[in-house]
Amino acid sequence: MKTQRSEQLFADAQLTIPGGVNSPVRAFRSVGGQPRFIARAKGSRLYDVDGNSYIDYVLSWGPMILGHAPATVTKAIQQAAANGTSYGAPTELEIHLATMIREALPSMEMVRLVSSGTEAVMSAIRVARAYTKRDGILKFEGCYHGHSDYLLAKAGSGLTTLGIPDCPGVPEDFTKHTLTAPYNDLATTEKLIKKHYRQLACVIVEPIAGNMGVIPPSPEFLHGLRKLTDAHGMLLIFDEVISGFRVQYGGAQTLYDIKPDLTILGKIIGGGLPVGAYGGAKDIMKMIAPSGPVYQAGTLSGNPLAVTAGIETLKRLKKPGTYEQLEQRSVALSEGLGNAARKAGVPLTQTRVSSMMCAFFTQGPVTDWASAKKADTKAYAKFFHQMLDAGIYLAPSQFEAAFVSVAHTPKDIDRTISAAQAALKNL
Ligand SMILES: *Cc1c(COP(=O)(O)O)cnc(C)c1O
Repeated sequence: MKTQRSEQLFADAQLTIPGGVNSPVRAFRSVGGQPRFIARAKGSRLYDVDGNSYIDYVLSWGPMILGHAPATVTKAIQQAAANGTSYGAPTELEIHLATMIREALPSMEMVRLVSSGTEAVMSAIRVARAYTKRDGILKFEGCYHGHSDYLLAKAGSGLTTLGIPDCPGVPEDFTKHTLTAPYNDLATTEKLIKKHYRQLACVIVEPIAGNMGVIPPSPEFLHGLRKLTDAHGMLLIFDEVISGFRVQYGGAQTLYDIKPDLTILGKIIGGGLPVGAYGGAKDIMKMIAPSGPVYQAGTLSGNPLAVTAGIETLKRLKKPGTYEQLEQRSVALSEGLGNAARKAGVPLTQTRVSSMMCAFFTQGPVTDWASAKKADTKAYAKFFHQMLDAGIYLAPSQFEAAFVSVAHTPKDIDRTISAAQAALKNL
């Protein structure tokens, strides 16, 4: 496979962009080697600048659930662009997207649109703090909620301690309000809440963890969080930036039948353009300016192009059979990979909820960050590079999800499984 042009561009990029990329994982540091520079994408395929093509399971880290450049979405964006790309004034489109979101996730009685998941989380936490008049938050190890200061805390190796910043530049003063507990560990969470609830505004959780590979919640975990937060005057925030419109149209909260107080969305609701959203019960959301005192604003919030892409994406997802098809393709992929691993004698722990999935290179079980970290990342890196050379684009890290789109065909899945059979034999 020719990669000269990508290599040249990566060298050039590093002269002006830190690490050559605008988001760290793109640089392939955890698997080694050099990132491919992408020239275009269509359907299930990515095409790089050297003319190679790949079946894509990263899908821009989740948003491209329809595959790349779906005709209806592209056309709608072009038409919207011709009408002006930003007004800094309200549009009817924003009502349309907010209404579609509320209909899909009824817990989001009111919705505020922003430009990224990070921004949505940050704003939701602000309103949760204002609403409860408490400063503390409780998050789970291995859950990612964007890169705002106080959420970069993962609390190092200690089981559950006061937040210690993982990142230089984040003052300890900012993270001291962040408590962390292991994912799926209700007993530890309960202890922490009982001890600290007077200072705790909220629990924030990815209802299906998608940033330490994929880790589904245990049956009692999310219900337990709902009960604990209710009993202690705290808000429950679901970060559904990945799971929203991914695991089914109504997201993880519909799948598991739990009503959070606030929900964060992003990724899919922008159809590949920058959108985030947060929303919840009216009495909470009415605290946001200008209806209330909690300030939050954005020059490009509710941007007409991004909102148009979101609306068109949701319209397509709403069609009957969409999630059944995603499920079928995902089952086929996951079973094929599992069989290949067994045949090759490679220990693999597979996790999956609908079309988000992961294969951890470990005996398992994988239920939290500590058990996820046992995965053999060197084996993953070797697997990843063989797959890449075979034209299969997986996430350049063991601890990321694989996504299937509506555009992946049974043939794509078969080709992927054949490549995996060869790669696993060769680890
Ligand atoms: C991607 C992601 C975010 C951050 O969204 P950005 O748009 O990258 O800022 C937040 N939470 C979760 C669960 C995510 O996967």
